[in-house]
Amino acid sequence: LNSISHTYPGESEAALRDISLTLGDATVTALVGPNGSGKTTLALVLMRLAAGEMQGEVEIGGQRIDTLPERTLRPLRAGFQMVFQDPFNSLSPRMSIAEIVGEGLWLHHSQLSDEEHRAAVIGALQDVGLEPAQVLHRYPHELSGGQRQRVAIARALVLKPRLLVLDEPTSALDLTVQLQVLKLLVSLQQKYGLSYLLITHDMGVIRALAHRLLVMKDGVVVEQGAVEEIFMTPASAYTRELLAASAWRDAV
Ligand code: ADP
Ligand code: MG
Repeated sequence: LNSISHTYPGESEAALRDISLTLGDATVTALVGPNGSGKTTLALVLMRLAAGEMQGEVEIGGQRIDTLPERTLRPLRAGFQMVFQDPFNSLSPRMSIAEIVGEGLWLHHSQLSDEEHRAAVIGALQDVGLEPAQVLHRYPHELSGGQRQRVAIARALVLKPRLLVLDEPTSALDLTVQLQVLKLLVSLQQKYGLSYLLITHDMGVIRALAHRLLVMKDGVVVEQGAVEEIFMTPASAYTRELLAASAWRDAV
C-alpha cells in the first residue's frame, strides 16, 4: 500500500490519510489502534471492498489492483481473502457448511469435477480442525462460535490465498476458544507460509505471533516496525499507553 487516503461517501473527513505499508511474504503484520481509527477501512481498501474515494496505490504480488476493473480483478481475488470479526454475520444462514466453503471454489476453479470439489472442501475443513462428516451438512446456527470462525477460515483457505486479512478474528469468541483459534491461525500461517494482516487489540497476541506491527490512530499510522523493537522502544505516546495498559492487565 502506497500513500493511501480514503474518504467514505458523503463524509467530509478522510478515514485514512497517507498510509504506506508493505506486507511481507510469510509474515504476520499486526494492526492495532483505538476503535474508529480506520483499521477495518484499511483492510477493506486492501481487499478493494471499501465504498468511497481512494487515493494511492495498492499492489498485491507485484500487481497494481486499485486500477483494475472488477472483472479483471475477480480471478485474482482468490489470492487475498478476509476473515471478519463476527462469524455469525459473515456466514450466510441459509447455506450449509459444504456450500459456504465450496462456493468460492465454484467461482474460482469451475473446472473442478464434483469429486475434486468435494475433496477440496473436506481438506479445508480438516485443515481448520473440523470433522467434515460432522459439519458438512449443518448450518451456521448449529455450530458454536469457535466452529463458525473455523468455517470462515476454511472458506478463505480453500482458495489457497497468499494473504489473509483477519479483522479481530477472535474478539467475538470466549477466552478459551480465542486461544484455540489463535493457535490454529499460527499453525496455518506456518504450514502454508501465509502472509497475515492481523487486526487485534491484544498486545499479548501481538507479542506471541506477529513479526511486524502497525499502530494507527485517527486514520494515520503513528508507528510501524518490527514487533520486538516497538515493544522495547515504542516511539509514539499512544503505543506506550497501549503497552502500559497491557502490562497492567497482565499483572492483575
Ligand atoms: P476501526 O476498524 O479502527 O474501528 P473503521 O475503519 O471501522 O475503524 O472506521 C474508521 C472511521 O470511518 C470511523 O470514523 C468510522 O465512523 C468511519 N466509517 C466506517 N465505515 C463507514 C461507512 N461505511 N461510511 C462512513 N463512515 C464510515
Ligand atoms: Mg474495525
